Amino acid sequence: MRETAGTTETLARIRDAEMTPGICYVCPWTCPTEVFTRGGDVVYVRGNTRASTRGSRCVKGEASHVLAKDPNRLKHPMKRLGPNEFQRITWDEAFTLIARKLGEIKAAWGPEAVAYLWHLDPNSVFAQVFLTECYGTPNYYGHTSACEQDRRLAALTVLGHVFPVHDYEHSKFIMLLGINMLGANQSLFESRGLLQALSQGTRLVVVDPALTATAEKASEWVPIAPGTDGALLLAMAHTIVTEKLYDEPFCRQWTHGFDEFCRHVVERGYTADWAQGVTSVEAATIRRLAREFAGTKPAMIETFKGLGNYSNGLDASRVVYILNALTGQVDGPGNLILKEWAPLQPPVTVPEARKAKIGKPPLHVAMGYPLAPDLPTQLLPDAVLEGKPYPVKALFFQCTNPAMSEPNTERYLAMLRALDFSVAIDTYMSETAAECHLVLPEASFYERAEVRQSLAMPPEAILCVPALAPYHEARPVYEIVRGIAEKMGYGDLFRWDSWEEWARRIVRDLPADLETLKRTGFWSGEVRYHKYREGGFATPTGKIELASESFAKHGYNALPEYRDRKVLPDAAYPFQLINTKFETHCNLTTQNNPILLRIRGENWAELNTEDARRLGIADGDRIEVESPRGKVGIQAKVRPGVRPGVVCVRHGHGFGHWQGIAKGRGSHINPILDTNVNPISGGIGYNECKVRIRKV
Ligand code: SF4
Repeated sequence: MRETAGTTETLARIRDAEMTPGICYVCPWTCPTEVFTRGGDVVYVRGNTRASTRGSRCVKGEASHVLAKDPNRLKHPMKRLGPNEFQRITWDEAFTLIARKLGEIKAAWGPEAVAYLWHLDPNSVFAQVFLTECYGTPNYYGHTSACEQDRRLAALTVLGHVFPVHDYEHSKFIMLLGINMLGANQSLFESRGLLQALSQGTRLVVVDPALTATAEKASEWVPIAPGTDGALLLAMAHTIVTEKLYDEPFCRQWTHGFDEFCRHVVERGYTADWAQGVTSVEAATIRRLAREFAGTKPAMIETFKGLGNYSNGLDASRVVYILNALTGQVDGPGNLILKEWAPLQPPVTVPEARKAKIGKPPLHVAMGYPLAPDLPTQLLPDAVLEGKPYPVKALFFQCTNPAMSEPNTERYLAMLRALDFSVAIDTYMSETAAECHLVLPEASFYERAEVRQSLAMPPEAILCVPALAPYHEARPVYEIVRGIAEKMGYGDLFRWDSWEEWARRIVRDLPADLETLKRTGFWSGEVRYHKYREGGFATPTGKIELASESFAKHGYNALPEYRDRKVLPDAAYPFQLINTKFETHCNLTTQNNPILLRIRGENWAELNTEDARRLGIADGDRIEVESPRGKVGIQAKVRPGVRPGVVCVRHGHGFGHWQGIAKGRGSHINPILDTNVNPISGGIGYNECKVRIRKV
């Protein structure tokens, strides 16, 4: 398939081709697609124009057809013999080995000594059912601590919802902090809404130390000092409280801790003048933004993962949701929508009598993070290397590459090498897979079936029908789990003649049946506003919690506070390192893509023009970025659009294991980061790093 084509050429290409509904799974936003194949080849892919994304696809999705036949993909199950040495084995040998090791580990250490980490596959739910309900480990986890863990916990405890979505299109004032909605890896449904809002004259304010792609399109860019967003947000709350700009009837009826919160921001002295000293944003600007936000209807403030990159990001994220609550707009048009989910059911059910008894708490609870929505993965080496809080002996990694994505790489590699048993399930070899005892080739989203929740605003289920036969011996996770289950005496629970059989179980309560989904690719419900009026919010008090009962119950401050971030620049390391993504890359799937590498072959570190001039660094020079943990060489990009004193590294390059075209392209910054974990959420503080730089 060629990368571009005019309409005539496209029509010729898809004539007589077979179309199947698909899901792009390069990134977690999972855009619905239509995949055209002929003779076992993908000839064209386009966005599904009738689903909520309205046919949108990003550059990564457009380039993803390469995946279908990429010769660099994993082809067979492999057993590790030693460094860079693998032996091809059969699936039966792989399943037999996994079953034996799981049996041995359970007998010696208990089932909780096995954990499964997944990133990008709703079909991992099969692994969840098998490992938690049949085998008996409570340790089935995603990758959220490396992503939006702080935002997620904030949303859960303040609003009682795990994933509020954004009704940008109907908003008149939008303020974004730590979220690059028009840049890397954001929901296309929402990006479209934001662009629509801008075309209607909506005011967009972006608060970020760097001029992101979104900030470039904003009405106002506020280049705040890194990691001080919480101070700015609390000062906005102070203005709203002291000038009584809140929606009092809403707050009295629908919030918990309203008076307490108002007293708190005043008594703690979170004034705009105080915040100016912390954030370097002028007090007058903070007050103006607070008045503008509270005085515009509809208006919203939102964040994603950016605030959580600092050790103080959890409380900052809580205040984001509290501000939206103070103005009474939550779950209304133009604000945060408490998304309703499509009624999907589990594909496999384990009878109560056969369910394993779980004897130990899950790792995150045992580690002392009872509120964490996902495992604090930076602490996993403690369990493997030191047996804290209890020993972990075997890990499964599905489409996740922590040897690259986690800070403190050295310790993570030591952990991988200390495991009794490890299995990587992926489409490509990765730095993590290279250390695993077994490497299993996973079918790509062109070759596997999926039924999953869409992340768009309405309740929506989306279907992926396999468009191609699996690449060489690759298998989807549901077939891999079935193979293991059969070897361990649970085969009868994981039995089906075709994927349609389990897919029908998933959609049995959906208003559309599987045959309809096969034609349309999705089922979409209505967006409903103000749903809390029917049954309240899903928090302990049934209200939006300005003072969090869950926090208080676990001995944390119920009210959000401001604390400095943990790592501050000093004389030896005078720059703050921050990181942001490119729109061209998302995890392992994109790293070796020739189209994406042609668009952007290498990453860089952005420096302010004045800082660069002072250090004699010109645009394009090679520089060395050094933290107390180590140093890395990288290309410099000199621009005025980054705050002085900040080094902003664009990540997603520098993968070292590739034999393919990505090898040697760009730099990877995580080895110079230290372990920094939010003490309540367990989220990773990727921006907690001070550095010095020099031209090399
Ligand atoms: S945002 Fe792009 S990469 Fe992500 S699912 Fe959609 S098209 Fe694919």
